[in-house]
Amino acid sequence: MDRYAVIGNPIAHSQSPRIHTAFAQQTGQKMEYTALLAPLDGFVATVEQFCREGGRGLNVTVPFKLEAHDFADRLTPRAEAAGAVNTLRFDTAGVLGDNTDGAGLVADLTLNLGAALQDARVLLLGAGGAARGALLPLLEARPARLTIANRTPARATELAERFGDRAGTCELHAGAFAELAGQNFDIVINATSASLDDHAPPLPEGIYAPGALAYDMVYGAHDTAFMRAARAAGATRVADGLGMLVSQAAESFAVWRGVCPETAPVLAALRAR
Ligand code: NAP
Repeated sequence: MDRYAVIGNPIAHSQSPRIHTAFAQQTGQKMEYTALLAPLDGFVATVEQFCREGGRGLNVTVPFKLEAHDFADRLTPRAEAAGAVNTLRFDTAGVLGDNTDGAGLVADLTLNLGAALQDARVLLLGAGGAARGALLPLLEARPARLTIANRTPARATELAERFGDRAGTCELHAGAFAELAGQNFDIVINATSASLDDHAPPLPEGIYAPGALAYDMVYGAHDTAFMRAARAAGATRVADGLGMLVSQAAESFAVWRGVCPETAPVLAALRAR
């Protein structure tokens, strides 16, 4: 039986074993997928032991995505752009590092939620790992304008500079939340972790264009603070990041097994729980 796992600390809460087990059943792949707790100072040792025991691949979550990036022998272009790795594949050529978070976000926005990214005005809130991972796939979807806003504006500016040569015809801007006054957007993506503390980034009034979608990468049993604030501020549609989680998992599954599972039934089953 081929072995896979999600590695992180903490890890008990992870939905990934449930998601990948459902994908394996759906596609008839013979594989086992478990959760692997690594000590905070023991990422590499835990991965090496998993490999020695026949492990074929790992999903990597908080706080090890940067260590996984350094551990990989070779990187996909999207992992290189993200500077972080959430998927490791162990094969005869060594350790491949990939980052499927941004592709998962774009798949959820376009396929599950039916949002049109091409020519849209997109606001990306946050400049941490999740925002950085999302940038290349977002730019590849060719929005008309992409603005990065962050509590620490210098980090947003740094990201915009880093990705400037990949923007093509997209207008790429960066700054502080307050600088968004007077602008509006078709899609607003919250890639900050503020919702984990039940906070929403302080956005000026009028940020949501008619028909706008507000998307929080965070998910949970209830609407997040960002989702509640977006509704109150006039967003037409509001979504959480559960679909992104399932879609990034599907991308990882395809990297390992060469088969693309269907995400909709797995997402529906998770929502029903
Ligand atoms: P990170 O690297 O720690 O970055 C955190 C970001 O949030 C930074 O931009 C930070 O701003 C900002 N922030 C934190 N608290 C804030 C507050 N109270 N008000 C405004 N901004 C605040 O974290 P990350 O890895 O990017 O992850 C961000 C979120 O995305 C996490 O909650 C994670 O769960 C979620 N995520 C979801 C998925 C999914 O599949 N659904 C995948 C990846 C990540 P400063 O720069 O000013 O500190």
